[in-house]
Amino acid sequence: MIKYCPTCNRSSEEARFIGEFCEFCVADKISAGMPGSAEVEKCWSCGRIRTPEGFAALDYGTLAAALRKSMRLTDCTLDVKSMDERRQSAIVCITCKQGGEPVTFDKNIHVKFLRTMCQACYRRSSGYYEALVQLRGGPRVVETMAESITKFIEARDGIITRTERTPRGYDIYIGDKELANAYFALHKNLSPLRSYKLFGVKKGKRLFRNIYSLHL
Ligand SMILES: [Zn+2]
Ligand SMILES: [Zn+2]
Repeated sequence: MIKYCPTCNRSSEEARFIGEFCEFCVADKISAGMPGSAEVEKCWSCGRIRTPEGFAALDYGTLAAALRKSMRLTDCTLDVKSMDERRQSAIVCITCKQGGEPVTFDKNIHVKFLRTMCQACYRRSSGYYEALVQLRGGPRVVETMAESITKFIEARDGIITRTERTPRGYDIYIGDKELANAYFALHKNLSPLRSYKLFGVKKGKRLFRNIYSLHL
């Protein structure tokens, strides 16, 4: 028996039906229940946006992840089809399940970029560091090691607050001590002399900087 959609009068020969209504009207109803705008935090210093996995360069993939979170679309998928950063708008394709059936529709979203500063930029600008690696030895070998450490940290989105040349090597100031630890955990042949220096107290907890001295 042919069904007719009570909203738009399309027949079941023209469109897929989900329950009593055609898929287009079901999609319109779901879309109307969603916010037309969404807020996304953007670092004014480096231009990266906040995603559920941390700050990342703005592209269709990261914007989709940020919008999905911001719009609380836990049961739907979202893809970005186009974006106009200057106009702060994006056209997205959303797919939700309705009565076990997938319903897909496009939606224009007003994307409000909120100015913020990401932790990496904050740490870099404030000179913050949690670990200091002191490399000493011949000029070539310390240079190679300094490059290796820098690459490792930057590949993992960590920050090198600064690198200083000393008469016998390099001092590398690193924002995140977990990453400094990870480097030496990976390169087990290097066994730096480790020491710790108190640098502050936060909420009653003493904070230590890790110092790694490596003679090559
Ligand atoms: Zn309809
Ligand atoms: Zn930043």
